[in-house]
Amino acid sequence: MQKSGLLIAGRWENPDGRIVQEVVSPFTSDAVGEVVLAGREDIDRALDSAVLGAHTWRNTPAHERSKVLLEAARLADERQEELAQTICREMGKSIREARGEASRAGEIIRLSAFEGAHRYGQSLPLDANLGTGLDKTGYTVPQPVGVVVAITPFNYPSLLVVHKIGPALGAGNAVVLKPAAQAPLTACFLAQCFIDAGLPEGVLNVVNGAGREIGAQLVSDARVNKVSFTGSTTVGEQITKIAGVKKLSLELGASSPVIVTKDADLEQAAHAIALGGYINAGQVCISVQRVIVEAEVEEAFLDALTPKVRDITVGDPTKDETMVGTLISESDAARVHTAIGQVISDGAELITGGERDGAMVSPAIVRNVPADHSFAQDELFGPAVSVTTAHGLDHAFQLANSTRYGLGAGVFTHDLDTSIRATREVDAGIVHINWTPLWRADLMPYGGLKDSGIGKEGVRTAVNEMTDWKTIILHSRV
Ligand code: NAD
Repeated sequence: MQKSGLLIAGRWENPDGRIVQEVVSPFTSDAVGEVVLAGREDIDRALDSAVLGAHTWRNTPAHERSKVLLEAARLADERQEELAQTICREMGKSIREARGEASRAGEIIRLSAFEGAHRYGQSLPLDANLGTGLDKTGYTVPQPVGVVVAITPFNYPSLLVVHKIGPALGAGNAVVLKPAAQAPLTACFLAQCFIDAGLPEGVLNVVNGAGREIGAQLVSDARVNKVSFTGSTTVGEQITKIAGVKKLSLELGASSPVIVTKDADLEQAAHAIALGGYINAGQVCISVQRVIVEAEVEEAFLDALTPKVRDITVGDPTKDETMVGTLISESDAARVHTAIGQVISDGAELITGGERDGAMVSPAIVRNVPADHSFAQDELFGPAVSVTTAHGLDHAFQLANSTRYGLGAGVFTHDLDTSIRATREVDAGIVHINWTPLWRADLMPYGGLKDSGIGKEGVRTAVNEMTDWKTIILHSRV
């Protein structure tokens, strides 16, 4: 059983004698670890530690920072299997998916080391300014923002942690990380890679606890220069109200649409949707939630999709043959099960799945879902896809844009004109042509429009958002 303390000022504070929270496997309900819960005074010390850490790290040459990050990346690669087992144990993600997630950690840290060490400023053509001579010179220089508070959700407990701490440390900042209360062990495991790599004291701090108890203190503290948050739109909105004047990145919720047009390759669309709607039991911000299909091909598309969804194996997350494991908790599975039951009783048709067993829900397809039903409008975060009929492309684009969200979208078409229209008309931060939104390269800009967020992640973009750019002007005496 993994026991993790708080990481403050470069050392793990021992759990003995402290208030701890058990971490429980959603599959077996057994305790798999425990973490120390941070109180107000702990948060205060973590922030003090980060202020000192930020000073140390900002004054460390980029090539030295890079060396530490590259060693942390090497350790993350070396410990990949243990990392995957930790993810699988604490959140019920199938081991095959957990291995995929764990395999990306080292590479994201390496990209962060590279991007953090390669920020080029601009030289300013000041003499082009009317009345300015050749007596001045100007340029921009990067500077770390200082202390970054990173708050992460449960669904990708390694990936989303690394997407914050990698770029933050690469850019020369100190971090106070607060991982999700349901899956904190993975974050502590990753933090150890950085400590073992020689990260100086105070540069990375980890505090644990329920966000509603310690979140407000973290995000509103004046010592914090940037809050990088990934989680629900509800919490993101709360953060905007109390953060004060500091940089904010908010990666929030979604109800991602996929349009299947009448000229689409239906086999390809069905294959991609059978992955994109159900990976991680649908607990992905870019999961396919709404399929909008042109009436002419709806039956043929459903004929292609249904057997593929029925073939998804759900079960013991530790077994190699399991494709999809549990939801994060039994209560979340019950929430998804109830939502499916509600839309069916409101007139939609269940084609397959939707049964619950403990924290597992079998992959569901629900058709004839009215576009304005909460099943389509609200984020489901579960293994079910709704299917709605579109009458023509204008209608399809209108349906795709009909929610408050705008994170990812997919359009299946083999018509170039439709592809070009879709890239212009679909209001999402990431638009895929001939794939679903559930695809990500860690280097690409990644973030939502509308209520799906503010700012972008993706290593280069995150490094930039965690950097202040100063404009320097040198004036000569003549
Ligand atoms: P959540 O909003 O409940 O929690 C996210 C984090 O915020 C956790 O660490 C939590 O403890 C903390 N938190 C809770 N209340 C807080 C408060 N008042 N102040 C500060 N922090 C607080 O989200 P979740 O259930 O862990 O994750 C699922 C959500 O995350 C979904 O909405 C999903 O779409 C979103 N998500 C978005 C992205 C993206 O890139 N856009 C990626 C993954 C997940």
